[in-house]
Amino acid sequence: MRQHVLLRKPGSFWRSLWKPPDQFLLEAAATGENLVARIRLLLTSILLLIPLVSLWYEQEPWENLVGLAVTLTAFLVALLWFWLVQQGIYRHWLGLASSLLDVTLVSLALFIFVLLDRPHTAVNSKVTFEAYFLAIAATCLRHDVRICVLAGLSAIGQYALIVAIAATLWDLNSPEFAPFRYGFFNWSVQISRLILMLAATVIGTAVVFRVQRLLRLSTCDRMTGLFNRGYFDERVLDEVSRASRYNRPLTLVMIDIDHFKTFNDSYGHSAGDEALRILTSIMRSSFRQSDLTARYGGEEFVVILPETDSTVAAEKVDKLRQLIESTPIPISGQGAVERLTISAGLACFPEDGPSATQILDAADRRLFAAKRQGRNRIVSKERVLASS
Ligand code: GH3
Ligand code: MG
Ligand code: MG
Repeated sequence: MRQHVLLRKPGSFWRSLWKPPDQFLLEAAATGENLVARIRLLLTSILLLIPLVSLWYEQEPWENLVGLAVTLTAFLVALLWFWLVQQGIYRHWLGLASSLLDVTLVSLALFIFVLLDRPHTAVNSKVTFEAYFLAIAATCLRHDVRICVLAGLSAIGQYALIVAIAATLWDLNSPEFAPFRYGFFNWSVQISRLILMLAATVIGTAVVFRVQRLLRLSTCDRMTGLFNRGYFDERVLDEVSRASRYNRPLTLVMIDIDHFKTFNDSYGHSAGDEALRILTSIMRSSFRQSDLTARYGGEEFVVILPETDSTVAAEKVDKLRQLIESTPIPISGQGAVERLTISAGLACFPEDGPSATQILDAADRRLFAAKRQGRNRIVSKERVLASS
């Protein structure tokens, strides 16, 4: 079940560095990829103007032709990527591929100067090299530390290789290169550049860790560790439109704890809080990784079950109902044990309407019906499930 890891024990730093991001971060990464695709398209269009304008004034035609070829390739790749992302077919590996592509395009631009017998332009480039920092900074938008680290280390490795090739093949400070329009070759400058790239990678990684934490805080209900209402409201629209686009079933469940006010009145609010935590942990383990459970408000919860029709969902939720009914809730400090029950209303796409609002309204109506019919039951369009 999709859920938060805010309350998870902190693991080792290295393990957290290589851990795949949670589902909600992946959703954010898809939005980030869209933004990167737009920015990349805009930047490559602007960059395309530089060699065009220089060619117009006929300065360094060779260099400008190479620049034009590279930026034109980058522009076409950016256009293709933009189109791919617009199709809504984001896969997580696309984020890594697109980050590595950005870095490699910069290296390619520098390496072409090596091939063109212009090693100083490659190792002392004034503008192209700085594009590495743009590429490393953009990896933050994928919200995945692994992408940050891999893209940063690739940039460092690729640039070090270009410098090593140039320094091996040429005596870069030989007078034959006078008047050294791009400056002398200096190892300490090159090492400083590599250190700066490493620093940018470390900062990028720290930013991603920070953003991950803030995203968790803003989408999580702190008490139960489930998603909060705000996140649910956003996701339900996406899930319903996805179900509609691919013509797939989707079930929405509204769950409410029965007579919870009486429980609170009898045992106090802290016992009520503890009971809420126990019930939500049962809910959490009852659904799949691809389902989304959120706290809708107070003692009400909502679950989105993509790719699930009403019959399968009703059986699943009824199992949850039976499990909760049979789970003893210990009342700490009072030596008592209590039992709680839940009622639930189910509604489905497409049977209950094409929009999230209509499906939610139908689930809410059925939850109300479950309460009216005596509680501790599941009401769907076709049937009512309760203990006999
Ligand atoms: P019903 O079966 O009709 O749903 O009855 P109910 O008592 O559960 O419903 P009602 O809406 O009258 O009361 C809901 C109660 O849930 C009241 C409120 O004190 C309690 N509640 C809501 N959120 C929390 C919480 O975070 N902690 C605790 N301890 N209680 C909560
Ligand atoms: Mg209630
Ligand atoms: Mg209620």
